[in-house]
Formats: sequence, structure tokens, C-alpha cells
Amino acid sequence: MNARRFFIGGNWKANGTPASVKQLIADLNSAKLEVDANKDVEVVCSPPFVYLAEVKQSLRSDFGVAAQNMWDKAPGAWTGETPTQMLTDMGIEWVVLGHSERRENCGETDQVVADKTKFAIEGGLSTMTCIGEKLEERESGETFNLLDRQLKPIAAALSEEDWDKVVLAYEPVWAIGTGKVATPDQAEEVHAYLRKWLADNVSKKVSDSVRILYGGSVNDKNSEELGRKPNIDGFLVGGASLKGDAFATIINSAK
Ligand code: PEP
Repeated sequence: MNARRFFIGGNWKANGTPASVKQLIADLNSAKLEVDANKDVEVVCSPPFVYLAEVKQSLRSDFGVAAQNMWDKAPGAWTGETPTQMLTDMGIEWVVLGHSERRENCGETDQVVADKTKFAIEGGLSTMTCIGEKLEERESGETFNLLDRQLKPIAAALSEEDWDKVVLAYEPVWAIGTGKVATPDQAEEVHAYLRKWLADNVSKKVSDSVRILYGGSVNDKNSEELGRKPNIDGFLVGGASLKGDAFATIINSAK
């Protein structure tokens, strides 16, 4: 199996009603895939917490399921939180961490994201850990400095083996939910930079094996071209992951 099996994450964010979630599960379960989700591509859907159990039970078994966050403490007196162990107890394999919406709205710092990534891995989860610059950082030529700042605490927290459990998602904030997708060349430039950063700061082995996803307005029209770039190993998809047919087309771009 390819060490960097193409990876498609679907981030449903805080969307869905009981009826729409049932429909989306049904659409995904009946989607005609031209790729083998057990072999050619890894697909992981990330519903809101309240639908996790239903999705885990009813979604096709060749798709994984991710939480959109987790609490990095043991179960106990933490009103309103969901400890890692509760997720693994119910068979959840993945968690999305460091999404720009949580960095921005929930005060999650670079260090918090790194610590949660480490805690999740120690607790038995794999992580889609997100990084990415805001528009003003890109425009002022700060993109690579910002990515260095976000990556450093993650690299300091993780052992070389831990990286087997990490998928890195490059999500330029200016492209998330805006319809303004990075061009394939823009995305590839950053992905190549990230891969070199990993080679220089972690190890060649990790650099060669870590999957780096692009996220930001990926849809069924642009995924194929983006996916042809050598350092783009898949996508983290927001809006288009809520439509079964569009998401299936994005998955098929792994061909
Ligand atoms: C995301 O939320 O991770 C994302 C990439 O959203 P969208 O695809 O809607 O831009």
C-alpha cells in the first residue's frame, strides 16, 4: 500500500439536523466510488458531536469517523467536555485539531494545538492537525514564518513514531468557506515547503510519509487538478462534504 495513501476528510462543522444527517449518511452509503476506500484512498467524515454515535453506527464501514475536537483530560468533572477516552471507547479513530475556526473563536494557541495533538495520539486517536495563514499574513509575506510558528510546538511535542498518527492539513484561512480556492501552484508551493520543513526539523522518514492535505473551498470541480500536484496527498473538505454527490466526486479525484 502506498505510504501516502490519498486522504479525504469531510468536516461537517456545526451543520445538520437529524433528518439531513440521516440523508447524508444514506447518500454516502450509496455513493458510487471509482476508487477503493479500503485501499486507494482513506475517507474520514467528521460530524458534530451529537451525531457521532449515529454516524459511527450507520456510515459505511470503509469510511472512518472523526470528532471535531476533544478534551485533553481524563473523564471526570469537566462539564460540557468530551474526553479522548470517550471517543476511543465508542470506536472513533480520528480527531480534527487546530482548525482555524477553533484557533480564532475558542482561543486555541499553537501550544494548545500541539499539546492536544500529543494527548490525542497518546489516547489512541489519529489527528488531522490543521495549520494555515490568514489573508493579511499572506499579503505581508509572512506565510512561511507563520507556518514555522505553528509547526514548531507540534514538532517539539511529538516523537518520530507519533507522526504515523498525524495527517497535516494546510488550510489557508482566506480560502476556508470563501469560495476562494488556492491555485494548485499556490497550494503546491506551501506543501513542498512543509515537506522540506519536516525533513529539516523532524526527519526524512517523516517528511516522506506524512500526508499533507489541502483545505479551503475544495469542491467537485477543482479537486482533480489540485490532487495532481505531487505534494498534495488529499483534502480536508468543509462545505462540499455536506453534499453526498460532490463529496463522492472529490473522493474519486484520488484516481
Ligand atoms: C474546512 O472547514 O476545513 C474547510 C476547508 O472548509 P471549506 O471546504 O468549506 O472551505
